[in-house]
Order: sequence, then C-alpha cells, then structure tokens
Amino acid sequence: MNLINPFEVVQEQLDEVMRILQIKSDVMQILRTPMREIHVSIPVRMDNGDLKVFHGFRVQYNNALGPCKGGIRFHPEETIDTIRALAAWMTWKTACMGLPLGGAKGGVICNPKEMSSNELERLARGYIDKIWQLIGPDQDIPAPDVYTNPQVMAWMMDEYSKIIGKNQFGVITGKPIMMGGSQGREDATARGGMYVLKEASKYLGLDLSKSTMAIQGFGNAGYYAALLAEKMFGIKVLAISDSKGGIYNQNGINIKALKEHKEKTGHVNGFSGAKDITNEELLLLDVDILVPSALEEVITKNNANEIKAKIILELANGPTTPEADKILFKKGIHLIPDFLANAGGVTVSYFEMVQNFYMYYWDEDLVYKRLNHRMSEAYKSVLKAAREYNISMRQAAYVVAIKRIIEVMKLRGWW
Ligand code: GLU
Repeated sequence: MNLINPFEVVQEQLDEVMRILQIKSDVMQILRTPMREIHVSIPVRMDNGDLKVFHGFRVQYNNALGPCKGGIRFHPEETIDTIRALAAWMTWKTACMGLPLGGAKGGVICNPKEMSSNELERLARGYIDKIWQLIGPDQDIPAPDVYTNPQVMAWMMDEYSKIIGKNQFGVITGKPIMMGGSQGREDATARGGMYVLKEASKYLGLDLSKSTMAIQGFGNAGYYAALLAEKMFGIKVLAISDSKGGIYNQNGINIKALKEHKEKTGHVNGFSGAKDITNEELLLLDVDILVPSALEEVITKNNANEIKAKIILELANGPTTPEADKILFKKGIHLIPDFLANAGGVTVSYFEMVQNFYMYYWDEDLVYKRLNHRMSEAYKSVLKAAREYNISMRQAAYVVAIKRIIEVMKLRGWW
C-alpha cells in the first residue's frame, strides 16, 4: 500500500527542480503530465476453465529524446498513479544517462505468484494484443520489471512478431540471450549500481573491501546486488529481506545458499545461522551501505532519522519519499538516487536494442566495459551538478535530466 500517491511525489520533485533551475512553469507544464496513457482489459482463460479479465496500463510519458522505453510490472497492487510515476522516472532516467530514449512504463494488475506458467503466457500475449499498435522499436520498447522476466519478454516479443508477420527482436528488451537478448542484461541493474557505488566510494574515501551492506529485496536487483557486492569489492552483506521479512548475520550471508533456501521455502526467513528481522529493522541497521531494492516509499519521514548507513544506493524505483529525502540530506547521508543508481538495466536494454538493429552481438566484457563507462560518467555529471548548485544528489540528477529534455524540446519547437 502506498503511503502517498507516487505521482504526487513526481510533481513535488519537479517543483523543486523548477525552482533550482528557474524554469518557467509553462515549459514545465509539458513535463507534468504523460504524453499518452493506454488502459486495457485483457480476458484470459484460466487453467480451470474460468474466464478472468485483467486490467493493465501502458504510460508513454515523454518521447522528446527518442522512442519511449521502460519495463512492465505484473503486480497485485498496481495502480495507474504508480505506473505514471514510474514512467516519469524512466523519462528522467534515460535523459540522465544520456540515452537517445524517452520514458514509459507498463503494468498489469495480477498476482503472478498464484498463476501457472500457461496462464502467465496467455496474459503476456493478451497484453501485447491490446497495445501492439502503439509499441515498436521506433515507438515504445517494453522490458522486464517487478515480477516479469526474460521468459515473459520472449512471449511478448513472439506475440508482437506474429501480429506483424515478421520477427521483430527490437520491440522488447531483456529477452533471453538465445533470442536476441544481450549478454549482461540479467544482472545489469545491480552491476550498474555497483559501478556508481565504486565512484561514490572514491568520492567519499570509503574502503569498500571493509564495508558492510544491507539489502531490502531479493528479486533480480537485490539478489545480483548481493552477489556482485561481495564478488567485485569484498563487501560483507549482513542482511537481506524479501516481501515476507528479512534475515541478519553479523558475519555475512552466503548468498547462493540463501537463494537455494528461498527456492525451497518461498522466503528468506528461517535461513540457518541467521536471525530473522523485519523489513523495517533492516532499514535501520548499522551498516555502511543500505540498498533498497524492492518497492516504492519504504524510507519515509517516520524512519529516515534513524537510518545509520553512510550511503543509500536506490536500486528500487521511488523508495524514498520527498520528506525523507530532506532528512537524509541534512544528516549528510550520500544518497545515490534511483534513476541514476538503477539505470544499468535500461542502459544494457539500450545496448540490446543497438545489437538487435545491427544483428551483431557483443561479448560480456564489451557490455561491462561500456556499462561501466556510462554509469561512471553519469555519476560524475550528477555529482558535479550537486556541488555546483549545493543540492542533493536526487535534485542534481533531476537537474541533469530535465536540462537535457528541455533543451531538446526547445530544439523541436515544443515551447
Ligand atoms: N524496468 C527497468 C527500469 O526500471 C528497465 C527498463 C528497461 O530496460 O527498459 O529501469
């Protein structure tokens, strides 16, 4: 359940950047609302013979910089406001990364944990049947997000290709490698986060090999963040959670063993040698780096004051409310904001699109090298803006992104 409407959070963040950059409000008006919203109903025959109608959305927020880009979530509590906010954040994310892409997001209200693979396939195909006219490699390119994965992308790409009568790999990213996916896409969100973390540690003079970390979330972003933090820098991961609760071990957690435990039991709780904790307790642990990697609005005015981490690496989208942001900034916590910290996913998605266009595929090392370069440069430009304007890293990321979008909208004659 969201505490505040996430789209109101976007509006508030835009107000701040408007003040900082002294932009006229009529120009900002273009960025305050989505360019296009699609609402669909998707009838799906369930395995027991019943017909169920699912509701879904696709919000194409802004395409000044290029075709819209962003993931699709399958979540029981999905709302149009959340998708709107996430589509706006995608727009800032691609702009902040200097990618030639706009922003979009999709969502379907469903609970994939209670659906069979056949039902999910019918839902994925049904969603594409409803939006196919409005997507495409030069229009809008979906990708995985919360509770969707490469298999779901494969079904969607196949459905789109069937409808248009030819293979169109570039319509969706995050596909399995065997059918036009990119090397390095699977762990790209977390890996991109690690590259910006490395830059932040240089700036703060923090020795990562002696650092500790707590990670909220054990999905694609959280799981790979845990693995890579240890493998790339020797960071000790002391705590991890999923939607049902968390675990803590002061000596560090064996991530692969935890993954097996979760596959067997369906949760991280009850992992041998570790103490069970709540998601709330995890956020307040005395660690160097806190990594929210689950859903929105978990760091709020109610807990921000008690956060002890030196760095917050936001791998989730929108985990911190604006009030909490102010508190964290005052406390001197170095917060690496979502649309910079988790931009590795969309950056490798962009690489995937480029490879699909060329029909020529890169090896893993080249993907990592180019991702590292893009992430490090983006971090440096955000840090530069933060110091120049004496603002928080989130405000600075906004400044970098909005300046680029506004400039291109001007060139295009939109204002
Ligand atoms: N869903 C991811 C995000 O929020 C990736 C989007 C993409 O690859 O297009 O950034």
